[in-house]
Amino acid sequence: MKAIQITELGGPEKLTLVDVDRPEPGAGQVLVKIEAAGLNFIDTYQRAGLYPIELPFTLGMEGGGTVAAVGPEVTGFAVGDNVAYAMTPGSYAEYNLVLAAILIKVPDGVSNRDAAAVMLQGMTAHYLAHSTFTLEPGDTCLVHAGAGGVGRLLIQMAKNIGATVFATVGTEEKAEIARECGADATILYDQVNFQEEVMRLTNGEGVEVAYDSVAKATWERSLHSLKERGMLVLYGNASGPAPAIDPLLLSTSGSLFLTRPTLGNYVSTRDALEWRAGDILKWVQDGSLKLRTEIDFPLAEAADAHRALEGRKTTGKVLIIP
Ligand code: NDP
Repeated sequence: MKAIQITELGGPEKLTLVDVDRPEPGAGQVLVKIEAAGLNFIDTYQRAGLYPIELPFTLGMEGGGTVAAVGPEVTGFAVGDNVAYAMTPGSYAEYNLVLAAILIKVPDGVSNRDAAAVMLQGMTAHYLAHSTFTLEPGDTCLVHAGAGGVGRLLIQMAKNIGATVFATVGTEEKAEIARECGADATILYDQVNFQEEVMRLTNGEGVEVAYDSVAKATWERSLHSLKERGMLVLYGNASGPAPAIDPLLLSTSGSLFLTRPTLGNYVSTRDALEWRAGDILKWVQDGSLKLRTEIDFPLAEAADAHRALEGRKTTGKVLIIP
């Protein structure tokens, strides 16, 4: 089968299309024929070495497709089932082995392609809005990169809860996308000081929570955009990781909370996984979560998908099609 592997860390040029044997499922494993793999920023961190991996490595932490074979001791899945998953590598390939324990059945009315598009970023937006900081109606929040994969979904979930959302974006076209998702105000953060703009929008009070996936370029202004006892949620590193932060800064800036969460800890039990995946797939099915999935790259062009994502050229979800 065809797969995209890296044998060395580095830039997108390290992605290589290879022929490898189709794997056989072992105990507890399911072989998934991949219809679509989701592109995520984590793929670029793994490729570049920010997040550790073992080489050679087949990229791709998210996929959707059909069950091609079932290993021993697997119950609840059969050949032909429509399935999706997140947080297992190996999705940039025609087939991938996935533990049944983290596999989710795709409900009727949702395509495998849409399921592949929403699992990782959707469950991330879900835990950010419903668990890390449990948004309530009337809360105000700041969402960076509001036209991106997680950003679009997080804006919609926050609005569905009844929160007020200020979204930062790189371009006017992206601002339009964030507004279509429900953002109450958009801020072109490359052109204006978003901290000042948030303070203006909140009559000098600040927001309850800042969801910051850009980090290095934004973390400090995000922190100073918060209300007293607000929360800074640093959940990504799109511009590079944030530096070490002195706890006293949290005290002098208003008794703030700082957290650096990761999806794995929010779907570490089957109950949590089924809750979050069940919610997002139901919301896709009933239209309360709208996806934007018009950008596809063929498997062989996965390196170009990485260039586009890192070059801030993408909006919504990018899929890689084997
Ligand atoms: P996006 O589609 O949001 O793409 C990243 C966006 O970040 C860009 O489109 C761009 O939007 C913005 N950005 C700002 N500065 C830069 C920069 N210097 N280089 C590149 N992009 C920049 O990606 P994802 O939805 O896949 O991921 C969003 C973030 O969420 C990532 O940081 C990722 O690591 C994080 N994440 C964290 C998870 C967790 O559990 N902790 C799980 C999943 C994702 P603009 O042009 O509008 O500024």
